[in-house]
Amino acid sequence: MKTRVLNILKKSDKYVSGEEISRLLGISRAAVWKHIKKLKSEGYIIESVTNRGYLLVFEPDKVTENGIKSGLTTDFIGRKIFLYDETDTTNNRAKDNSSEPDGSVFIAETQTGGKGSRGRGWLSPRGSGVWLTALLKPGISPTEVSCVTLAAGLAVCRAIGLNSQIKWPNDIVIGSKKVCGILTEMSAEIDMVNYIVCGIGINVNTESFDSEIARRATSMYIESGEKYERNAVAAQLLNNLEHYYKKFLESGFISLRDEYKKNCVTLNKNVSVIFKKETVTGKAIDIDESGALIVETSDGIIRVTSGEVSVRGIYGYI
Ligand code: ATP
Repeated sequence: MKTRVLNILKKSDKYVSGEEISRLLGISRAAVWKHIKKLKSEGYIIESVTNRGYLLVFEPDKVTENGIKSGLTTDFIGRKIFLYDETDTTNNRAKDNSSEPDGSVFIAETQTGGKGSRGRGWLSPRGSGVWLTALLKPGISPTEVSCVTLAAGLAVCRAIGLNSQIKWPNDIVIGSKKVCGILTEMSAEIDMVNYIVCGIGINVNTESFDSEIARRATSMYIESGEKYERNAVAAQLLNNLEHYYKKFLESGFISLRDEYKKNCVTLNKNVSVIFKKETVTGKAIDIDESGALIVETSDGIIRVTSGEVSVRGIYGYI
């Protein structure tokens, strides 16, 4: 209901009376006032003038449940949101709360222990990005889980635009720099997944990176010169995630494959595939119907599944 009050204020550039809000939403004026008070406590500046009503004059750049929900068009992803000012990783919070409903989202202003694949660190500075995890409970087998990462990659590309592309399997890049990383983890029995946590970190308004990763990292702000409302970015991301995730569940990765291939920067490049014990070089020639990368090497064609591998361009990161 608080979200609906906020939406009414957002849509109007004039004062809206408490009476009108209460009529539109079918709630008492006291209830309207209670929601306004809550919004103010979250950093929204709402002017209230007797006999005129309420006017929204400032929306904080803070990730808030209302802020995200006001942009959501989903059926289930993000319908329950857990917000943290600071946490080690949102994936951990999702795992701790795995009994929460399918589609619950865990989001933090900053992560102190953010992780990339294979345990490397993921920087998640306060207030500059969207650091979130979706808890998902599909009835699929563990071998299909990597497709959720691929679906999430497409969702990120669609949500952020800016000519972003997917570096198979789990990074989103703009040009040759990483703007987003995805880390999907699961709890599973031999043939059935209990739950998946799909962690997505997007550099949104980051102004600069330490020299160590500046070569390989970028943000939406660095690429466009514009600052973004992170709640809106998160909502767009979740809307797109639900779209691609549902499509995958209904019709398999094959239904996403063409779109994925169009957005995949790895295809038709010479790559090094770094396995645990060896590195293989070749040309990435296809993504198959299960989402595996097909690489043509001098010893023949190999099929690479996303698990424990890194893929690099032979001359650099892409
Ligand atoms: P891979 O291709 O195997 O996924 P990667 O080197 O890209 O390898 P990840 O585990 O996906 O590794 O991501 C972690 C790496 O990303 C870190 O080692 C660091 O270099 C870089 N990194 C950390 N934080 C950020 C960030 N906020 N934005 C972009 N890059 C980052």
